[in-house]
Amino acid sequence: METKHSILERYFGYTSFLPHQEEIVDAVLARKDVLAVMATGGGKSLCYQLPALVFEGLTVVVSPLIALMKDQVDSLRANGVAAATINSSLGYGEQKIIERVILEGRIRLLYVSPERAVQPAFLSLLSRADVRLIAIDEAHCISMWGHNFRPEYRRLRVLKERFPRVPVIALTATAIPAVQDDIVAELALKSPVRFVGSFNRKNLTYRVVPKARYFPRLVAYLNEHRDDAGIVYAATREGVETLATKLRSKGFSALPYHAGLPETVRTEHQEAFSHGDATIICATIAFGMGIDKPDVRFVIHTDLPRDLESYYQETGRAGRDGDPADCILFYSRGDYGMIRFLIEKESADAGIKDVAYRKAGAMLDYCETTGCRRKFLLAYFGEAYPGDRCGGCDRCETQVQVFDGTEAASAIVACIRETGERFGASYIADVLSGAKTARIRENGHDTLPAYGSGRGYTRDQWLLFIQEMVRKGFVASTGGRYPVVVLNDRSRAVTGGGLAVPLTEPQPEGVVAAEAE
Ligand code: ADP
Ligand code: ZN
Repeated sequence: METKHSILERYFGYTSFLPHQEEIVDAVLARKDVLAVMATGGGKSLCYQLPALVFEGLTVVVSPLIALMKDQVDSLRANGVAAATINSSLGYGEQKIIERVILEGRIRLLYVSPERAVQPAFLSLLSRADVRLIAIDEAHCISMWGHNFRPEYRRLRVLKERFPRVPVIALTATAIPAVQDDIVAELALKSPVRFVGSFNRKNLTYRVVPKARYFPRLVAYLNEHRDDAGIVYAATREGVETLATKLRSKGFSALPYHAGLPETVRTEHQEAFSHGDATIICATIAFGMGIDKPDVRFVIHTDLPRDLESYYQETGRAGRDGDPADCILFYSRGDYGMIRFLIEKESADAGIKDVAYRKAGAMLDYCETTGCRRKFLLAYFGEAYPGDRCGGCDRCETQVQVFDGTEAASAIVACIRETGERFGASYIADVLSGAKTARIRENGHDTLPAYGSGRGYTRDQWLLFIQEMVRKGFVASTGGRYPVVVLNDRSRAVTGGGLAVPLTEPQPEGVVAAEAE
């Protein structure tokens, strides 16, 4: 039996382990069940690939995507490791050959989909093979609390039932504790050792920029980063196509990628991006699982992601080589409507919807926080960031200016009172800025003293003020699906002149273009 250090060098070409890798490998080698939670790029694959080589026998790896399996098998083989995959793209003859080689004990790592892993014929093959380890990749797919629930993962429990003495290692990049507990319970892991790595990606810079009229600012940013490769995400296929076309008309080599394109075109575009023939890929979230381009220098979202897990995972594709990279999100609260639409469309289950709404709410809070973005993001994943400012986000770079906003706050309180404490923040902002909407006319609110009383600021600025007042407790929000802003004791003190309200100075809009200064 070779030692782990010699295997690390000989097959993987590394001289040392990344953080947590060695402890995880040791636990697996001690035949314990393991739950490994590490950020994307943290080096999870090695945690089961290396033990597979020490154990000799067969390690079964369950992985959700054929493309991902293929990449892994190819790179293992290139390093002289006997790896294979059984999947639906194989012909009958090919499959029989692989089965024979497995039974002869000549395969170390076998990659399969979750569907395949639970098939009776496959389980019977395994029972005749010398299985030493089972690895479940992307294990968060088992949990409804995760962002990528796949019911077929639930059936993987059968592996533990059929092979109770074979250790199982579950791996994921999703850290929320409820997901971890679910993984342990659903896979029936036995007294698992848990490893949770840090989620801080030090080389990534986080920025949120107002979305209104964003395209010229996007182009300005891309012009300053002509030689860099990056991903620009949009929520819909149409959005992706439009963006790619518009960027090409500005002279960028941008290609679209979404599930509506034929497989061949998708592969072609993905490869053009990987090999550097196209510098920008415009994509829906269909792109990226399994993309391993190390030098992605920016990830830009032109639409609001639906939760922070998705955002973290998508931005995690930037800077995997460790060099600095930008994560920019063009934010408009209006995008929340689209997310609400999706949540309503996707499920009728009240519990599932409730989780989805809470996650979307946290996404909005990230965008609207006046504090450090990194700290916020890490806190969401249960990790405390030491210190108040990271120096690598827009909040920490541009010192937020606070002014005496008592006058604006009084106008907001008056407007809420005059409209009867029955409306959400955006309606209040509409009334204050004197918007000419049908709803305001129908409610007769265009005759109120508050109507148009706030012309000194834009509607979006009013909206931010109201949200800040909610956060700071000067007014209250009922929460829920259609949050209504209501008054509390402190609001009354504001109009009574007894309470000063500090508010954040509205941000200039050209933050992206200005960043090179
Ligand atoms: P994850 O699955 O956690 O996203 P990967 O297993 O794909 O991460 O590894 C991320 C990157 O880190 C890969 O490029 C891999 O080659 C590299 N890597 C893994 N282990 C080590 C190590 N011990 N030393 C140096 N680089 C490593
Ligand atoms: Zn910060």
